Amino acid sequence: MARPVVAIVGRPNVGKSTLFNALAGERISIVKDTPGVTRDRIYADVSWLNYDFTMIDTGGIEPDSKDIILSQMREQAQIAIDTADVIIFLVDVKQGLQDSDSKVADMLRRSHKPVILVVNKVDSFERDMADVYEFYNLGIGDPVPVSASSRLGFGDMLDKVVEYFPEQSGEEEEDDTPKIAVIGKPNVGKSSLINKLCGEERVIVSDIAGTTRDAVDTRVRYNHKDYIFIDTAGLRRKSKIKEDLERYSIVRAVASVEKADVVIIMIDATEGVTEQDAKIAGIAHERGKGIIICVNKWDAIEKNDKTMKEHETKIRQILSFMPYASILFISVKSGQRLGKIYETIDAVIENNSMRIATGVLNEIVSEAVALQQPPTDKGKRLKIFYTTQVAVKPPTFVIFVNEKYLMHFSYVRYLENRIRDAFGFEGTSLKFIIRERK
Ligand code: GDP
Ligand code: GDP
Repeated sequence: MARPVVAIVGRPNVGKSTLFNALAGERISIVKDTPGVTRDRIYADVSWLNYDFTMIDTGGIEPDSKDIILSQMREQAQIAIDTADVIIFLVDVKQGLQDSDSKVADMLRRSHKPVILVVNKVDSFERDMADVYEFYNLGIGDPVPVSASSRLGFGDMLDKVVEYFPEQSGEEEEDDTPKIAVIGKPNVGKSSLINKLCGEERVIVSDIAGTTRDAVDTRVRYNHKDYIFIDTAGLRRKSKIKEDLERYSIVRAVASVEKADVVIIMIDATEGVTEQDAKIAGIAHERGKGIIICVNKWDAIEKNDKTMKEHETKIRQILSFMPYASILFISVKSGQRLGKIYETIDAVIENNSMRIATGVLNEIVSEAVALQQPPTDKGKRLKIFYTTQVAVKPPTFVIFVNEKYLMHFSYVRYLENRIRDAFGFEGTSLKFIIRERK
């Protein structure tokens, strides 16, 4: 089930960070951590009642001149329109209604995205409510009063937000067409790849506000099978500001990874694998998606018979948390190995949802245990009673043991490798849960 994505948009100082932090609690993922740059939160997991969603931060705004604020707010709103299922438009009861609020509200209204108008800094309902009504003038619905710093009004606000989430069961589940997200740094060749795979004319490029969510996904038929490429319109949007561009590519990655079964991580062969690639790849890994690494622009580098191996070694080293990822060396420009991509997508999807019968699984685990004794601590040895697969996407295993603390990370790794040797699972992460059974 895809996690819905919620974005917060608003002027500087209305309380976006405060709201974000209050909702996210401890679960904030700081993606960007460049020395000298403020640690920037990009996204966080939020749980509210039975709902889980991903909250993205569309970026800070430098409170410079008025013109810059408005243009940056527009960029921020555009990111939200491209990526979010629901947008929280945050305004400030103390600053009151501002001209730029109205302009951004117009833009959000035209997008036809669900927008919840939230009025912050209503620290006292008795005192401040009269000032809240002014925001009806924005024409985007009933203002919801909150106080981010005192955590007031969150229940009503989140009730409204989750109202717009797709039904958790029902039609969406039945569409099992593979969904593919293409992520990577700016200029790595994402839109070129999509154009090539989908056929130039089928990519719906839409800079027109008012296009619905569905229009940004592109359905393609290849070899009598359907595939959906996610967020293809967003790929075309290029920000002018370099920092924004980088951030945008990460925010986009978070949002599209949520909806994907398979994630194609593109790396530029001419630049090699970078830290930013690792951050983007980490998002896909964390979410347990099928992973294909495509090293693009293979045409553009000098090669000998060792080049491919050298690239692979470097990639495996920097992306050491995903040794299972499939790697393809491609050139969108020359078309080299593009046919392999669909084949790999099919294989990775199959592996990501593969189920292993408990009997064979335990045979493999017993063999592994016989070959390499489990760890001990102060004379006490780890005993593995039983292993069973409890979920797919990603394949998730529960290992029942005598004492949890005896299970070392390295031994889990060892068992994972034996399971991979036996069953494959290329392109997907595996999850292990250790439980005690006394
Ligand atoms: P951002 O620029 O939109 O991210 O705004 P911040 O979250 O940094 O908040 C700007 C200022 O407003 C800070 O000084 C916050 O402490 C303050 N603030 C945030 N929420 C509230 C609130 O609910 N009530 C009051 N009185 N102040 C708040
Ligand atoms: P995006 O920002 O990731 O969507 O990247 P684009 O698809 O816009 O491509 C960025 C630039 O890289 C463009 O100038 C492309 O023509 C170029 N490019 C894309 N794929 C290849 C490739 O396989 N080889 C070479 N030499 N250039 C490529």
